[in-house]
Amino acid sequence: MSNRKPEFAPLWGLDVKDGELRIGGQPVSLLAERAGATPFFAYGRDLMTRRVEELRTALPERVHLHYAIKANPMPALVQHMAGLVDGLDVASGGELLVALDSGLEPETISFAGPGKTDAELTQAIASGIVINMESHGEMERIAEIAGRPGARPKVAIRVNPDFELKTSGMKMGGGSKQFGIDAEIVPQVLSRLGDLDLEFWGFHIFSGSQNLRADALYEAQEKTLELAAGLAKHAPAPPKMLNIGGGLGIPYFPGDKHLDLTEVGDGLARLLPTLGPEFDDTEIVMELGRFLVGEAGIYVSRVVDKKESRGQIFLITDGGLHHQLAASGNFGQVLRKNYPVAIATRMDGEATESVDIVGCLCTPLDRLGDRMELPKAEVGDLVVLFQSGAYGLTASPTAFLGHPAPIEMLV
Ligand SMILES: *Cc1c(COP(=O)(O)O)cnc(C)c1O
Repeated sequence: MSNRKPEFAPLWGLDVKDGELRIGGQPVSLLAERAGATPFFAYGRDLMTRRVEELRTALPERVHLHYAIKANPMPALVQHMAGLVDGLDVASGGELLVALDSGLEPETISFAGPGKTDAELTQAIASGIVINMESHGEMERIAEIAGRPGARPKVAIRVNPDFELKTSGMKMGGGSKQFGIDAEIVPQVLSRLGDLDLEFWGFHIFSGSQNLRADALYEAQEKTLELAAGLAKHAPAPPKMLNIGGGLGIPYFPGDKHLDLTEVGDGLARLLPTLGPEFDDTEIVMELGRFLVGEAGIYVSRVVDKKESRGQIFLITDGGLHHQLAASGNFGQVLRKNYPVAIATRMDGEATESVDIVGCLCTPLDRLGDRMELPKAEVGDLVVLFQSGAYGLTASPTAFLGHPAPIEMLV
């Protein structure tokens, strides 16, 4: 006999009343009416607020929290986050405009990303935000552009560390990378920086993403602080900011567990005092995307057809990978695994049916759930995909097959 128990990643912060899932205190079926159409994304304000509170409680007071808006750049959501965190991190000129609209002080906004164009650098200089420089060439371009409007650009060095964040979903440092300046040539770049009309702001050291292990994060943070201490000796001024990256993950798949935040906080409380006096006035920044918003969002689609094919039952929805690519397993995953899923109005039902949940696109890649044990669902039911607050809509190929864009709502 196969295991008939539903197996999902653990869920957080959700609320069920009278057998129906609610987000932001509102039943999902009511939200579907409010949206006027399915599919839609709903993001819970209170969930984002609670998540930031949890972090503030666990982390040392010295740590400033930044929201990396590429995780979810919806303007209303960014506005909500801007009221909770200490700064925003952007990765394009477009995101920069959204971040500036929030009204946060420009020097709490930083811009990282390879391949910044002259137009984007001009935007960054004109608005007075901090530029995390990704190469020596980029630094020379900034100095040249700044020669024109006159403002003194605030620049930090994004370092490509000589280590990786272990057991990470996505490694973004170590080895040869398109990100950052190799740690070993940073002293040389810092010496050149001192000759240019640039304001040295600090260091940005980001080693990886989507990590669920506090011990791996601790190890990377320890190496990050050591690296920063070594590099600061070569800097023209003490760093105003040290961005130690983030990498805090959320559970997506069966077997994943929530990260132990207390352990992360205790680890940082041990590590930060090891920084020397040159860091006494340095703002320590952690930049987080999915950890702040990923679990606060759901993607809801409607069952438009139910059919059986050679013994297997298919729930065919009006959603799909064009809105939620990552849940389909096609966003860099090697093996497809199921995101947590529920039938919105059957939360108290027994899991009595094994179904494949698919989207409406004419490609076999469009799978939202394989062999899932769920309460019996019918045409018209609402299928909820959890963990959809980050890297959902804007990380998906929305033009593929020409369906209308989904609604996004903050609730
Ligand atoms: C994408 C990115 C982040 C956010 O990563 P999450 O896994 O969403 O927390 C943070 N910093 C940098 C530099 C990034 O590129």
